[in-house]
Amino acid sequence: MIGVIFGPPGSGKGTQAARVEHELGLKHLSTGDILRHEVAEGTPVGREAARIMAAGDLVPDELIVDIVRRRLPEAEAGAGVLLDGFPRTLRQAQALDRMLADEGHRVGFVVALDVPEHDLMDRILHRAQVQGRADDTREAIAERMREYHKLTEAVLDHYRRQDVAVERVDGTGTPEQVFERIRGAIGLSSG
Ligand code: ADP
Repeated sequence: MIGVIFGPPGSGKGTQAARVEHELGLKHLSTGDILRHEVAEGTPVGREAARIMAAGDLVPDELIVDIVRRRLPEAEAGAGVLLDGFPRTLRQAQALDRMLADEGHRVGFVVALDVPEHDLMDRILHRAQVQGRADDTREAIAERMREYHKLTEAVLDHYRRQDVAVERVDGTGTPEQVFERIRGAIGLSSG
């Protein structure tokens, strides 16, 4: 089972993806986490990505597709994969579809978390204090929200056209409540 989780910055998608991994056994593959790790390690990829990420912009498609291509086979070897933060653009979605098709796989479900924007700003500014992420400044957050709305709808439409179940899930409430909604949505979509 290959799933994708979408959510605007601060929607709690990383938290939910970790729970899906823990409770439903799908391997969590977060491109944001991978990039932050590369930045922290000072790798060539990390050096290229650091400034782009800090500004809230997207790193180049080729760079991110390479990262996923290297990690997908191992992740796919298990019960399933939950992609978090990827694909973010139509080109990334097309690249992903090709990689999966080579293994006889395809995206099985898409979950999109919906959270009102005023809740998001509060959550992110709180996270900025706790975790000190370089891209949790007001300007970078606003830029990431703009990017999210502009690009995500195109990717969701891409999957709807392929008759992949695209589930919009209410992301407000406690993490437990949100997780139960996701569990229900995935259950429905997988038949
Ligand atoms: P958020 O959802 O809070 O914006 P992520 O952890 O998913 O955070 O991503 C953080 C940053 O990493 C993005 O703003 C972007 O710069 C970079 N990034 C992550 N995934 C991708 C991707 N698929 N394509 C391009 N850039 C990405």
